[in-house]
Amino acid sequence: MKIIDIINSGRPILSMEVFPPKTSDTFETVKEATEKIALLKPDFMSVTYGAGGGTSEFTASIAENIQNNYGVPALAHLSCISSRREDIQHQFDLLKGRGIENILALRGDIPEGMSREHLDYHYASELTREIKDYGHFCIGGACYPESHPESPTSFDDIRYLREKVDAGCEFLTTQMFFDNNILYNFLYRIREAGITVPVVAGIMPVTNPKSIKRICAISGMALPQRFIRIVDRFGSSPEQMTQAGIAYATEQIIDLYANGVNAVHLYTMNKPEVAGKIKENLSSIIE
Ligand code: FAD
Repeated sequence: MKIIDIINSGRPILSMEVFPPKTSDTFETVKEATEKIALLKPDFMSVTYGAGGGTSEFTASIAENIQNNYGVPALAHLSCISSRREDIQHQFDLLKGRGIENILALRGDIPEGMSREHLDYHYASELTREIKDYGHFCIGGACYPESHPESPTSFDDIRYLREKVDAGCEFLTTQMFFDNNILYNFLYRIREAGITVPVVAGIMPVTNPKSIKRICAISGMALPQRFIRIVDRFGSSPEQMTQAGIAYATEQIIDLYANGVNAVHLYTMNKPEVAGKIKENLSSIIE
């Protein structure tokens, strides 16, 4: 099933992201976690793709498993920065052969020290165009309500986002954010710039304050005072932080639905218990 048709249904959507293992040693444990998440019956599940391409086989096989054995439509992430054109064509064939109909087209982070000369791909828009030419797939792309960290200005970021959408993105999924006003402002600005495709709002339930502070420092995302106070008060107890993180994410999601943002994507970090609690908190709203 195409993700765009699910999003366009008009009802509140809750999708969930999982990541594949880095090595085959942990394959079974990770697969089990993704299966538990699939049993929660999200509207669709996305499966991330390693920046160096090392986990491409794992991405395809986890996506195939949740879709074909658990009946949850899968969105396979695909990044291009480290790949040659023929590898990417091979990925299209591989995903199509496994019944995958949806790709999140990404550039990927540029590995440290990598020369940008002689690359086959520089931006996600090039990959998007190739997927569109290939046909078969519904294409999504990433977007950044607080701007991508490499962008000189938010205007540039939105201009290039428009290019990516024009290249063939049918929907966008946002980077996580912790203040919904940031998303509402971003939506206003991209609509003004002529970007009309649906935007799926990415929400991260924070259960590990150390990792979120690190991610925010790297990516330039803001942590609102209200959230910082929660982390300061409960961050030293994993149980308390988990409960507070679930409550915070739930409240963000309810506010999004209430304000007409119908599609929400949960960064599950492969934690079925956390994803399950959030789904339960929303049961009357999303059923
Ligand atoms: P692009 O859309 O290419 O943008 C990258 C930068 O280039 C931006 O600053 C943009 O403004 C600029 N730009 C775009 N076009 C041009 C142009 N023509 N000229 C000049 N500048 C331009 N990474 C992974 O490795 N695997 C994953 O599975 C993964 N999943 C993700 C899922 C989501 C929802 C998000 C938000 C991010 C994900 N990432 C993933 C991270 C992503 O790969 C990085 O953020 C990466 O740095 C940018 O990828 P992109 O596809 O957004 O790039």
